[in-house]
Amino acid sequence: MIPPTHLYVKKDTVDVNAWFADWRESGKIGTRSDTYEFQSRTMSRIFSLAHLQTIDSEIDDLSRRIHQIDQKLAGDPAVTSARAALDAEEKHLAEEQAALRAREREAQSVQAEIKDMEDRLYGGHVTSPRELEGMEKDLEMHKRQRSSLDDELLERMERIDQLQKRTRELNGHLDQMQSSRSKDIEAISREKDKVNSRLSGVTLERDQLRGELDAEALRTYDHLRRTKAGRAVAVLRLDACGACGMAVATGLLQRVRAGDEIVFCSGCGRILSP
Ligand SMILES: [Zn+2]
Repeated sequence: MIPPTHLYVKKDTVDVNAWFADWRESGKIGTRSDTYEFQSRTMSRIFSLAHLQTIDSEIDDLSRRIHQIDQKLAGDPAVTSARAALDAEEKHLAEEQAALRAREREAQSVQAEIKDMEDRLYGGHVTSPRELEGMEKDLEMHKRQRSSLDDELLERMERIDQLQKRTRELNGHLDQMQSSRSKDIEAISREKDKVNSRLSGVTLERDQLRGELDAEALRTYDHLRRTKAGRAVAVLRLDACGACGMAVATGLLQRVRAGDEIVFCSGCGRILSP
């Protein structure tokens, strides 16, 4: 728990000098004239750095969340792949339907030839037995061809039924995904607004805090943020560094708690904060 760098106390409620010996009036009274504002007398720099770290870590988290949200808004891989599956199945269905129509035309033309042959064969105009025998063989061949085309047509129609059923299923699946995605998008967009508004608030707070810190402290802090995975300040946890866990020597602990200087962890090199 990091104590605040500022304390706000309602006037006339406390004996200021007795209760807040370690704090000084910062001279800045907030917007409310009935409130004192105090700033820590000795610990302000280290607490300001620790507070800055808290704010910067929150800014990092919020920025990561914005990035995730933008990726979600840009597109849903599950919807994309469901649409691709439907497209592929529809293409396959269209090809099968075109093939069926071609085979149906073929069957119609074979049927027309059969009718033509039967008319000639049974019309009584052909009398030569050899010619009749030849025509009958030809007719049988056409009928076999017609029968095998019929079998093929049936198979193709069954396949088309299956494909139509599958296409309807995929379509329904895609519809469901899209409607749940549009609800998601609404929720995500609302979340993005909230995250953005929090981000501008904390960014403002960070800029104000940086304005109160001296250049040397900021240089050290910024360097550590760059080189220590975004975490420059480690708060003590049970007399050990809260970041790397290394026990802090007694002498060092006293210096950290005194708060007069910036003390670094001998394990990870981060700034230690009480
Ligand atoms: Zn450490």
